[in-house]
Amino acid sequence: MSSIDGVGATGQVQEHLSTIADAVEGLCDSDLTGLSDAELTDTMRRLERSLRRTSAVGHNLIVETTERSLPGKLGHKSVNKLLIAVLRISAADASARVTAAKALGTWHALSGEQLPADLPDTAAAQRDGDIGADHARAIREVIRKIPHTVSSSDVAVAEQILAELARSATPEDVEKAGHNLLAHLNPDGNLTDDKDRKRLRGIRLGRQDTNLMTPISGHLDPETRALLDPILAKWARPGMNNPDDPESPTGSTEHPTVDRDQLAAAAGRDTRTAAQRNHDAFKEALRALLGSGVLGSHRGLPVTTIVTMTIDQLEQQTGVVTTASGGIVPIRDALTMAERAHPVLVLFDHNGRPLHLGRSKRLATADQRLALIAADRGCTRPGCDAPATMTAVHHVHDWSKGGTTDIAALTLGCDGCHALIHDGPGGWHTRTAPEGTEYAGRTEWIPPPHLDPDRKPGVNHRHHPKELLERARRKANARREAGMRRRGGSWPRGEARGGGSIADGLP
Ligand SMILES: [Zn+2]
Repeated sequence: MSSIDGVGATGQVQEHLSTIADAVEGLCDSDLTGLSDAELTDTMRRLERSLRRTSAVGHNLIVETTERSLPGKLGHKSVNKLLIAVLRISAADASARVTAAKALGTWHALSGEQLPADLPDTAAAQRDGDIGADHARAIREVIRKIPHTVSSSDVAVAEQILAELARSATPEDVEKAGHNLLAHLNPDGNLTDDKDRKRLRGIRLGRQDTNLMTPISGHLDPETRALLDPILAKWARPGMNNPDDPESPTGSTEHPTVDRDQLAAAAGRDTRTAAQRNHDAFKEALRALLGSGVLGSHRGLPVTTIVTMTIDQLEQQTGVVTTASGGIVPIRDALTMAERAHPVLVLFDHNGRPLHLGRSKRLATADQRLALIAADRGCTRPGCDAPATMTAVHHVHDWSKGGTTDIAALTLGCDGCHALIHDGPGGWHTRTAPEGTEYAGRTEWIPPPHLDPDRKPGVNHRHHPKELLERARRKANARREAGMRRRGGSWPRGEARGGGSIADGLP
């Protein structure tokens, strides 16, 4: 190591910075047109990994700046203010970086000794380039919500599981799995607290402004959200209830069946924002409610709230359940809704198989769809988060190629994902996972070569967060055991052997 700019630590840092600058300049000037499709996606992945690793360097720069009290020396009130002045970043960006550095940076004791990061496994995953800032934020949010009564060794294991999960999943997956982890750590289901929720709930209607518009703000409790979602799923979709488009199908009772071609054409013309579509749907829903009280059906099922729960959950009345529209409702609220609003209740046995399909009204054609909602819970393509209310029933094997209507050959897919299944370039294929494999019977999607050169079939864990947690738990244990062997038997951070009670007791 030598540098024209200096010697020792200074010289090394300068040399690394020059190397990065040269490499980036080289990449900026690179001709990308010569890359194959697979090389292009591989380049994206490798660049992303490097960018993620550099944010770990950013954390340590903030740590060093703070530890030597640089903001005060240079006349800034806080490290945030210094970052804004030096880097010309927004206040929100500065605050996010400082918060991340607090949890993930390598801090030092007064003696100069390195302290373990607040979230050591998350920090390690970011240094490896496996996770980005959004993953880390999702993990931090879950850890922040863990009740104070939970032991610190359980918190450490929870962080380890989430960090492991994040290495192979999206930030949204981490968030969803985190809800399950929290429900497990705090089995009364009061993720915040029932009292907090009662206090927070509210819809504020502001004064009509000079445009005669009314601002609205507030908080819906989980039950209200679960009631609203299925209505929006149908009435706020592009093309529906568009007041600017006379040809747009409306959700009124005069049009009980919507012409698919008409809707597709209207969706193509629809330039409204999602917020505007929600607003228009809300308006139509209120109108219909006031007019007739009938909300019609959505994809063959009554517009109502569908919740899934296990017999265990029903007996213990603890934890959270998911709705077919992807919402999360404390189980006690769900049971209250079942009494009052007659939603469709789908129950599972211990193995997750549909056990009982209870509903307020018998609909023979809806049975298959209900069973699929119970089993698949949403679109089955790996990584897709479209909830069941946004999906249609599809054949795992194309009908024209000999698919059957047997329930085992049917699956849920959203319209966008279903369109990806074809024999052309970039097309996906589906099949039923064979007996003897980990997810036998589930729908496997086989990605095109540009996404996975090995074309490894995968199932969608997005709607089954417990599967993700379970896999992450196994990997975290393996990683820790390997680490323990390297350290010659000492157990890190005072944790219980074998992963502690969270990891062992995951439902
Ligand atoms: Zn999908």
